[in-house]
Amino acid sequence: MLSSRLKHHGAFNGVTGSCHEFKVNDSCSLLVDCGLFQGADTPGAIPDDKTRTAPTNTERSNGIADDQSIQFPIAHIKALLLTHCHIDHVGRLPWLLIAGYRGPIYCTEATAHLLPLVIEDALKVGMTRNGQLIGAVKNRIASQLRPVAYDRWESIEFEQDKVQLRFRQAGHILGSSYIEIELSDGQRVVFSGDLGCKNTPLLPDPTPLERADLLVLESTYGNRNHEARAERQQRLQAVIEHCVEDRGAVLIPAFSIGRTQELLYELEDIIHRQGDSHPAWQEIQVILDSPMAAKFTSQYQRMRKLWDNEAKQRLASDRHPLDFERLHTIDSHDQHANLVGYLRSSAAPCIVIAASGMCAGGRIVNYLKALLSDPRTDVLFVGYQARGTPGADIQKYGPRGGYVMLEGERIDINAEIHTLGGYSAHTDQNELLEFVGSAAEQGRVGEVRLVHGEEDAKQALAAALREKFNIEVS
Ligand SMILES: [Zn+2]
Repeated sequence: MLSSRLKHHGAFNGVTGSCHEFKVNDSCSLLVDCGLFQGADTPGAIPDDKTRTAPTNTERSNGIADDQSIQFPIAHIKALLLTHCHIDHVGRLPWLLIAGYRGPIYCTEATAHLLPLVIEDALKVGMTRNGQLIGAVKNRIASQLRPVAYDRWESIEFEQDKVQLRFRQAGHILGSSYIEIELSDGQRVVFSGDLGCKNTPLLPDPTPLERADLLVLESTYGNRNHEARAERQQRLQAVIEHCVEDRGAVLIPAFSIGRTQELLYELEDIIHRQGDSHPAWQEIQVILDSPMAAKFTSQYQRMRKLWDNEAKQRLASDRHPLDFERLHTIDSHDQHANLVGYLRSSAAPCIVIAASGMCAGGRIVNYLKALLSDPRTDVLFVGYQARGTPGADIQKYGPRGGYVMLEGERIDINAEIHTLGGYSAHTDQNELLEFVGSAAEQGRVGEVRLVHGEEDAKQALAAALREKFNIEVS
């Protein structure tokens, strides 16, 4: 069984800290991803009713676990492969370097491009703000990076062995991939990374799976199905309409890469379609209050050749999906503090996108502290909220009448709380089954190992896979 050659160093019984080792032979292994642990996905984490009152001893107030050190031997790791540059897949890279890893780092060209920004962010929230040190880590990573184009086989030679790798489109964020590893005996191991939904704004759909003797498959939404993009857009529009009517703010906690750009793309479209229909719509402003998200947004714009056809068509008709007139970027902390104060004391139809995505730190916390108790406010969750994070608590204990602890302060929730499932950028059960099905129905999938999911999601997906395709799932 190929799965006996797998070891999971993260994201097995949870969804953060992705890091999987595959033993190529007795002396060599490959590592796939090296992500940061967040929320309660940390060794020794305590149940979430206790994490409500104070950060756990393994968790800082920003939701990043204190101990990210690499606690497994790495001398036999001959290559690191990165599926995509979300922090929960690459954020422990600096700690891997500290542990002494000097081997090659393979990823797609776009991931290589985005990676320095992500690493800078990971270091700033988890380790240091020292510019010299951050620069040194980025240079070290740059010297080890081996960018590879999509769909092209790349050989890795070991002392007495050779494997081939190929990065395929995963449709999850810019540069995201699933990775095929062809062993010297012809067997193929596939790591799904995070798979995106079909019809994701801006991005092409995932490439169908060809074959896999072992498929290591994510299962984040293995027990759920998302609403279709059209419904999601309607619900987003309804929240924005409400904001125009009652002149309250819409707060969207979002991750810097992926969801932020998808949302901007959809918001531009909603505002564009309203045209001059109603004067109130002329007032609405979209605020991107995250210097990091703004940097990623400009990278997305720069790499527009990777956008899907719909997005390219909008560009061709002289629209600017990620840089429209009503979009404003907040940079300095003073500007940020002023805006929070302004929104607290006055009414303005305003949509604010700010990090962190799980409300465990970052500028969104200041908006939440100022505006959660205002009934005109809408909070819109567009991403997965890991166990133990304030975001999960707001979802659980909101809406009206509940409260949440933010930075040790009790904040009453009077705002409306919405969750839009589909901007998650993770595919759902139907599409996961469809992804496996293209190959499984022709007998081209050997066994599946489920990772990156809570227990109930994994169990539901495992049952569906066994029933539908009669394949071995562990
Ligand atoms: Zn991801």
